[in-house]
Amino acid sequence: MARPLVGVLALQGDVREHAHAVRASGAEFVAVRRESELSDVDGLVIPGGESTTISRLLDTFELLEPVRKRIADGLPVYGSCAGMILLATTVLGGRPDQHQLGGLDITVRRNAFGRQVDSFEEDLELTGVAGGPVRAVFIRAPWVESASSEVEVLGTVPDVPGAGPAAGRIVAVRQGATLATAFHPELTGDIRVHRLFVDMVRAAA
Ligand code: GLN
Repeated sequence: MARPLVGVLALQGDVREHAHAVRASGAEFVAVRRESELSDVDGLVIPGGESTTISRLLDTFELLEPVRKRIADGLPVYGSCAGMILLATTVLGGRPDQHQLGGLDITVRRNAFGRQVDSFEEDLELTGVAGGPVRAVFIRAPWVESASSEVEVLGTVPDVPGAGPAAGRIVAVRQGATLATAFHPELTGDIRVHRLFVDMVRAAA
């Protein structure tokens, strides 16, 4: 499959930045707001934004069960930040009524890095991403508190000055065809994480 079709869930969040990274990574992009758009995609990105808002809009747009079903059926999916929260099976510090899409057998802590706008930035080595560290931008980001043995840890926060309680925390994971980062590679212009995802989409097709 030369250029797979990758959808970005376009209910709220940094859709445009993901669209750009998806296209630059060799895939076609489509904004997903309705079930008919979802049924065409070979892979799906859940963007950064606000997980409680995206959760509510999944109800409004009647996408919750369709997205859950496609993920359960093995659709490759990548979530950044709020997207990671939505893909996790368990959320700490979430709203009790916020929905989970499933796909990742992890417990995430919401707003773990604090609530400030520009929380933390650091260079991280990521398993599966060659060519040196990735600049990780954390914005009111979650971290992974625990992960099942089915989950591959791709990256953790290094123990650097300023990392504080984030040092050693898991911030990038993969489970089967599901990929998630607590940070926002779509904001840096470095498309290597998106390329990894597009490779996963091609491999699954
Ligand atoms: N704190 C947000 C949430 O709970 C995530 C922030 C982000 O995506 N940058 O959804």
